[in-house]
Amino acid sequence: MKTASPEIIIIGAGLTGLTLAYLLRQNGLNATVLEARKRVGGRIHTRQTAGGTKVEMGATWLGSKHQQLRQLLAELGLGTFAQFLGTHAIYEPISTSPPQLVTLPANDEPSYRIQGGTSALIEALAATLDDAQIVTGQVVESIWQETNSFLIVTQNGQYPADLVVSTLPPFLLKQTIAVSPTLPVELLELADKTHTWMGESIKVGLTYARPFWRESHTSGTIFSSVGPVGEMYDHSDDENAHFALKGFLNGAYAATTREQRMAVVTAQLQKYYGAAALDYLTYEETVWSDEPFTYFPYRSQLLPHQNNGQASYREPLLNGQFFLAGAETAPGHPGYMDGAVESARITHQLILQRLDH
Ligand SMILES: Cc1cc2nc3c(=O)[nH]c(=O)nc-3n(C[C@H](O)[C@H](O)[C@H](O)COP(=O)(O)OP(=O)(O)OC[C@H]3O[C@@H](n4cnc5c(N)ncnc54)[C@H](O)[C@@H]3O)c2cc1C
Repeated sequence: MKTASPEIIIIGAGLTGLTLAYLLRQNGLNATVLEARKRVGGRIHTRQTAGGTKVEMGATWLGSKHQQLRQLLAELGLGTFAQFLGTHAIYEPISTSPPQLVTLPANDEPSYRIQGGTSALIEALAATLDDAQIVTGQVVESIWQETNSFLIVTQNGQYPADLVVSTLPPFLLKQTIAVSPTLPVELLELADKTHTWMGESIKVGLTYARPFWRESHTSGTIFSSVGPVGEMYDHSDDENAHFALKGFLNGAYAATTREQRMAVVTAQLQKYYGAAALDYLTYEETVWSDEPFTYFPYRSQLLPHQNNGQASYREPLLNGQFFLAGAETAPGHPGYMDGAVESARITHQLILQRLDH
């Protein structure tokens, strides 16, 4: 395919979609990214409170093995810092015994956070594109291929395209966007059984004026089998200027109200730290299963990461003009930010091949 300036539409302005648009632009190809939400970032969402504390409601950590992501961060001039774990954690193995303070072993492979918050990566990618390349508030409903071109239909517009990339988790794509002609039946069956990483999770964060949990040998690191918060960590910033705790609430609490969730989370922290835990500045939460542009209910339960990274996701479709991308389609570390970046790199190469670029 040799077209002077092919129209490339990328569906989804998460890490995959924006990395792909950034890479294509280096080849002089200005793709248009259609995003359903009013914000960019998808499963990356750093919320900033009025007091200036940044709380990660989505992706937070990377490891030294996440080389695709690390390389992108270096290219964009973004730094990382080690997750503070401390030397002692609160450990609550069983509801009939009180919580204990345990000594943590040395951590040979620390986890890292992105300086300025994970959304700094999204902002840096978006800054490399023209404003007109990202169109938010565009919920794609259907994709129609006629001969050699496409029409993308959103709730409030239509976009012609020569090449189309979906960065939606495969299960969400299958459930929410009509594609004509239909995709191969084996692929649709696979998508039906492909887990969307972290789609069921509930993130909770509490911001505080001071990190009281660092006193008396504790660290903010909490591991509890009793719950309902199973794990929690210090979420203060690298500069030690803003302080927070952040963790994961049992997903079953999606069925309760925000007030009920706030009550059980603060009660659990009060049990460990006393009245200081109740003196929070803000309570932040995201129930990801309530996010229609991330989660769609499964018909039967899927295991975490089930069918992530399957090779058939990386085969170009519809006469080689339609590509499936996204973290769940990557061969290495699928579901994670590293997988999203790898997926963007793979799709970038497939598009260049298709265009004889
Ligand atoms: C709570 C949570 C914690 C996580 N923690 C980590 C972590 O610590 N480390 C890590 O590496 N990874 C983590 N992840 C996973 C990480 O967030 C993802 O791997 C990564 O952000 C996926 O990027 P993506 O672009 O492939 O997908 P997404 O971010 O899901 O992007 C898809 C985009 O498509 C948009 N979209 C959906 N439907 C439509 C439509 N119909 N029309 C137009 N646009 C649409 C969405 O709004 C979204 O912006 C976490 C995820 C969550 C939810």
